[in-house]
Amino acid sequence: MTSIRRIPYGRQTITQEDINAVVETLRSDFLTQGPKIAEFEEAFASYVGAKYALAVANGTAALHLAALALGVGEGSRVITTPITFVASANCILYCGGTVDFVDVNEKSALLDLDLLEAKLEASRHRYSGIVPVDFAGLPVDLERLRSIADRYGIWILEDACHAPGAAFRSKAGSWERCGSGAWADASIFSFHPVKHIASGEGGMITTNNRALFEKISLLRTHGITRDVALYQNDDMTAEGAWYYEMQELGFNYRMPDILAALGLSQLRRAEEGLARRRAIAKRYDQAFAGSRARPVLPGESQLHAYHLYVVRVENRRSTYERLREKGILAQVHYVPVHLQPYYRRLGFKPGDFPVSEGYYASALSLPMFPGLSDEDVDRVISAVLESA
Ligand SMILES: *Cc1c(COP(=O)(O)O)cnc(C)c1O
Repeated sequence: MTSIRRIPYGRQTITQEDINAVVETLRSDFLTQGPKIAEFEEAFASYVGAKYALAVANGTAALHLAALALGVGEGSRVITTPITFVASANCILYCGGTVDFVDVNEKSALLDLDLLEAKLEASRHRYSGIVPVDFAGLPVDLERLRSIADRYGIWILEDACHAPGAAFRSKAGSWERCGSGAWADASIFSFHPVKHIASGEGGMITTNNRALFEKISLLRTHGITRDVALYQNDDMTAEGAWYYEMQELGFNYRMPDILAALGLSQLRRAEEGLARRRAIAKRYDQAFAGSRARPVLPGESQLHAYHLYVVRVENRRSTYERLREKGILAQVHYVPVHLQPYYRRLGFKPGDFPVSEGYYASALSLPMFPGLSDEDVDRVISAVLESA
């Protein structure tokens, strides 16, 4: 390999402000469970337009807690998309539920709502919920999904890990951000370094449902409460300030204050990062128009957050290899979940979700992150046009 600079598909941006925020927390009284958690939660809730936000250890913990709070357990059957990170499906299995998939739409690679409706109709009342994914940063039509879900009495847990700042336009014409709770019962986000907002590890759950919020708060920290008003042990009402009760089987899924300080600092630049992602996407869109690299374009009702910039190419393997030789580290999102060995052992097999499998065969995620310079973008464009 020559000494050409490598361009990864995603990368965090850390500023001096971020570093200062972390150092300030390191010097404070709290490394975990301090004031930065509530500050980050409030700022995030207002960013997406939700009533409540709960910071947790990572996006996977967010999925696990939300699924538990929504009541997933033995006998629960939940639908998700094959084109996602495995955690969107695994969270259901953690709770003892069963996962099923519905294929994606050929153009958007989002869950196909027509197929979903057909599946629910054919198997009335057999499903408890659905985990739609705003794949690549493109929001799912949750307004339509809500009306489908209501008809069949199922809940919606939106996996919005790719989509902080993305928005969907309602039929009435208002733009709803992913995670706003306008349509989903709960939404989750991740702050892994490749995502929009990086805190190292970290996650967030947003909801407008007070009961869900309280349940998740309890489960996030061992199922323990110190709220006197909620105590259940009638025989221990006279205990002192040391007393607490464990009322549910919860977990330690808390986010440390150090990471909340970093997340909060990053959140302040979220709009700036989004604007840069959209400018890069525009440059790519224009360059690839009419070429052999076919971008996935947003619809009129979708405001894309561009966690990923995906193009479809005929010969994905050779394009990938040639880009690699030129120092451009494209990626593939995702190997369809149902084709993972673990899921095959549950009975899924190649051919089960043909649109997802076809999508996987041709999809390539090009470098997309705010730190890319215009020169980097042009280097990627030339390489793709030469390689695809
Ligand atoms: C990143 C991601 C997750 C998991 O988040 P972690 O913070 O890494 O646990 C879940 N779903 C999707 C779609 C993701 O991209």
